[in-house]
Amino acid sequence: MTTSLSPEDRLRAAGQRITSQRLLLLRLLDASDGHLDAESLFHAAQQEMPEINLSTIYRNLEVLTRAGLVAQRYFARDHSREYFELATTAEHYHFTCTQCGKIIEFETPLIAQVRSDLKRQHNVNIRHACICFEGLCPDCIPQSQP
Ligand SMILES: [Zn+2]
Ligand SMILES: [Zn+2]
Repeated sequence: MTTSLSPEDRLRAAGQRITSQRLLLLRLLDASDGHLDAESLFHAAQQEMPEINLSTIYRNLEVLTRAGLVAQRYFARDHSREYFELATTAEHYHFTCTQCGKIIEFETPLIAQVRSDLKRQHNVNIRHACICFEGLCPDCIPQSQP
């Protein structure tokens, strides 16, 4: 999910310093339809910036996440790996195929409903919802007929 603003404009709008590393990370996430972990981003970034190191990637991902430009996701129940994608205004959720790893994004008003119910019933301030769905995608569901 991408937005039409350029990486420079996004950094500027978020009041963040524009650096070549941040621009590169935003560009890579934009080009990839998102959902990359820090190591994949590191390997992709090295193609253009051979001197970049993994800790620079982590540090800048943290800055971009805190600035609201990048969203950090988990796609597995054990939260073993963090994935990143560009933050968009449309809240969306992810289904991950446990067999081929395919990620399907979807939107639903139902979770906004859950959030407002929770807020109303328990008077809590929800900052983040982490919801992941796992199962088999259409390609991986065994077919009964050949
Ligand atoms: Zn699959
Ligand atoms: Zn997504």
